Amino acid sequence: MKPDAITRQILFGSQKAGKTYTFDEKHDPTLPAQQWFQEPDEGLILFIVFYTQACRWSRCLGCNLPSKVSQDHVPYKSLMTQIDHIFVDPEVRSRASLIRKVIISNNGSVLDEDTFSSTALMYLIAQLNLNFPNLSVLSMESRPEYVDLAELEFISRALAEGDTPTRLEIAIGFEAFDNRIRNEVFDKGLSLEAFEGLVLKMAPYGYHLKCYFMQKPVPGMSDVEAVADIQNAIDYLNRIADKHDIHINMHLNPTYVATGTALETAFRKGRYTPPFLEDVAEAAHHARAKSVSIFIGLSDEGLAVEGGSFLLEDNQALVDKLERFNRSHDFNILDEICKTR
Ligand code: SF4
Repeated sequence: MKPDAITRQILFGSQKAGKTYTFDEKHDPTLPAQQWFQEPDEGLILFIVFYTQACRWSRCLGCNLPSKVSQDHVPYKSLMTQIDHIFVDPEVRSRASLIRKVIISNNGSVLDEDTFSSTALMYLIAQLNLNFPNLSVLSMESRPEYVDLAELEFISRALAEGDTPTRLEIAIGFEAFDNRIRNEVFDKGLSLEAFEGLVLKMAPYGYHLKCYFMQKPVPGMSDVEAVADIQNAIDYLNRIADKHDIHINMHLNPTYVATGTALETAFRKGRYTPPFLEDVAEAAHHARAKSVSIFIGLSDEGLAVEGGSFLLEDNQALVDKLERFNRSHDFNILDEICKTR
């Protein structure tokens, strides 16, 4: 599709959802949008958000991730320079042999070749093989409609040429389990049939799946309903994981009020408050002894309006406990949080 047609799609989605943010056109296109390290017990993770054209869908109710990238096409040569920038970064170089997982994102779909160049993707895989000898997982964020098995097989074959076996993980946004909330209110555009079709495609190859969920993603949902929605999602993903013998991780993000979205309007009118972390612990606790694993996202990425984050001045001790849970997967930590409410 022509780049200006994609820009029109992005603007259509943003307008449909009443988004008021602007895109980051001032960003230097030779630099990634963001990059950071995470250090769970299983090894060092490098998270890279490339600066590309924004998510074509762009209409999900509470999402302002596109505001960190461009509404216009970013050429493959700029993207390759962003990749070079990663691999000459002194901190990345000094920790290269420790990196076990790389997560690649563009705040949209890295498998959408109209927004993330295929040439740049191939170049990135080559650089990962050359520079990260102990890489064991490559995770790519994408909407399911851009997941192409032939492309995954090709990437997987290329990764197998690296020094260490590296498996692929596809990370998709699910956000809410209730069909009405997910598709009519949040406007995610994801049916369970499409999700299960993706699972059927991926399972025979042993690729892993990560599903992003948001606790309390929309106005009009009580805290109790929000907990129940995540618990229902855990039960569903658990059934799917068992039935298809596929590894599924739920990445549970407590919702924050993102600037320039309909959630901000509701928040300012007193019709929305972010979830309590105690409720997030209660929802996550439901994954105890299940096949589906769970990770709790504890960052608002600096994208929340003032007072609209689940991170409060007085809940750092709780955040520390949840971080401990993420590192250890010790459900007793969640038990303790639930009991002391
Ligand atoms: S949640 Fe994902 S699919 Fe939806 S608008 Fe944001 S980046 Fe696009």
